[in-house]
Amino acid sequence: MDIGFVGLGIMGSAMAANLVKAGFKVTVWSRSSDKCRPLVAAGACAAASPCAVAAASDILFAMMATPAAVEAVRDGADGIIAGLLPGRGYVDMSTVGAETSLESARLAHEAGALFLEAPVAGSRKPAEDGTLTVMAAGDRELFDLSLPALEKMGSKILYLGETGNAARMKLANNLVMGGMLTALCEGLALASGSGLDTAQLLEVLDSGAVSNPMFRLKGPQIAANREFPAAFPLKHMQKDLRLALRLAEELGQPLFVTATVNELYKAALAEGLGDADFAAVSRVIRP
Ligand code: NAP
Repeated sequence: MDIGFVGLGIMGSAMAANLVKAGFKVTVWSRSSDKCRPLVAAGACAAASPCAVAAASDILFAMMATPAAVEAVRDGADGIIAGLLPGRGYVDMSTVGAETSLESARLAHEAGALFLEAPVAGSRKPAEDGTLTVMAAGDRELFDLSLPALEKMGSKILYLGETGNAARMKLANNLVMGGMLTALCEGLALASGSGLDTAQLLEVLDSGAVSNPMFRLKGPQIAANREFPAAFPLKHMQKDLRLALRLAEELGQPLFVTATVNELYKAALAEGLGDADFAAVSRVIRP
């Protein structure tokens, strides 16, 4: 199976590297061409455009930052759809709203190809380790064909039915994550302001009902409140909160906490923290 990979950011570069390591023939493209270099050194081929990647691949995976980035690589003469042959597959693993996935599916089907949306949970380290959670939805035939490759990127792979379901599931997951992370920042700010040992608060949290890997990973970083090197960029978390709120609006579903969490993330963006890790929202709560 010839694989294509478009979008070699934090996640895409690690996911594509696992496909190369697994022995697939992989063709790559990223807007910043220097991102292709380590993959080419590992055995991948670099193509000149997303269209050329699609033309060279049985299944093309894309891992883009935003809905606008999905459109930028999908549409136009150099885009994925222009190179997608009938019977081939387009798997979009970016976190986007259902409307973006539905349009990608429509365009892929118009070209006679198959479409799957497959956003992931898990950050830089699970991407490197191939232990992401993959939420897939769309053409079942493409899910089955993609499985050998998906299994090199993720350790839990779910098929959720029709296109849009995976996008919605991913947004529900991330609003929980954003809320939990913000609550952790507030707890640590309160403990610190009270003169308590923040390491002891983390110990208390870890031994009780709210113990979780994210608190274990991000807690010490937030307690130190200094450096926030990006694993999951803050601008992407704000994008996910925005998309979750838009979905809630469509459904008439109130999201009281998420609306406030989104305001905190907007404030962090305004302070220039978009490229820092999403844990840098702590700076807004405890400057
Ligand atoms: P990232 O490092 O910002 O990389 C995103 C990719 O999008 C890069 O390849 C970038 O190109 C490309 N891109 C952005 N704007 C573009 C445009 N206008 N035209 C063409 N390409 C464009 O993001 P990431 O952290 O890998 O995340 C990718 C997706 O996965 C996002 O939707 C994110 O929400 C989601 N996600 C991230 C994590 C995480 O922990 N990081 C976890 C789960 C899901 P160049 O860099 O080549 O310029």
